[in-house]
Amino acid sequence: MNIVIFGAPGSGKGTQSALLIEKYGYYHISTGDVLRAQIAQGTELGKIADSYISKGQLIPDELMIDILDDVLAAHPESAKGVVFDGFPRTIHQAETLDALLAKRNGQVDIVVGLEVEEEELIVRLINRGKTSGRSDDNLETIKKRLDVYNSQTNVLRDHYKAQGKYEAVHGMGSIEDIFENIKTLIEKHRR
Ligand code: ATP
Ligand code: MG
Repeated sequence: MNIVIFGAPGSGKGTQSALLIEKYGYYHISTGDVLRAQIAQGTELGKIADSYISKGQLIPDELMIDILDDVLAAHPESAKGVVFDGFPRTIHQAETLDALLAKRNGQVDIVVGLEVEEEELIVRLINRGKTSGRSDDNLETIKKRLDVYNSQTNVLRDHYKAQGKYEAVHGMGSIEDIFENIKTLIEKHRR
């Protein structure tokens, strides 16, 4: 089963993905974590990634897709199921993912959309910035990331709604309650 965890910056994608992995054992790919690992290692790719991330922009689609392709190829166990966290973020990425999974006789089975009010997102990200050391967790960059989300990523809700795959989850409240709701939705879409 392939699960996309979807939502604005700070909506809790990483937190809920970790719980899903613990329960279902699928392969977790967080594109943000992959890019930050490259930055931490000081690779050429990391330098390019940092130039976009620190400005709150998306990494260009073709580069991001190549990276995703490489990670999946390096982890054959991903064929059994993946939790995609932070990907896709554009229509082009979504269409590419559909094609990529189709080649492996798979598909996106469910898109879990964590819906959180913007004021709450800003509070969470500013708080995270106090300890995360992330170059993008500051008010100016947070606002830019929310703009990017609203202009490029939010349209994916309609893309997946049209396929009957989008399931909205109220992303406020306790982590455990949110996870309970996600589990129920996943059981509904299980093949
Ligand atoms: P959350 O807090 O919900 O985990 P986030 O938006 O804070 O989400 P990441 O998913 O870690 O954090 O992404 C951080 C940055 O990495 C993005 O702002 C973007 O620059 C880059 N990035 C991550 N995934 C993609 C992607 N699919 N396409 C382009 N850029 C990406
Ligand atoms: Mg994250």
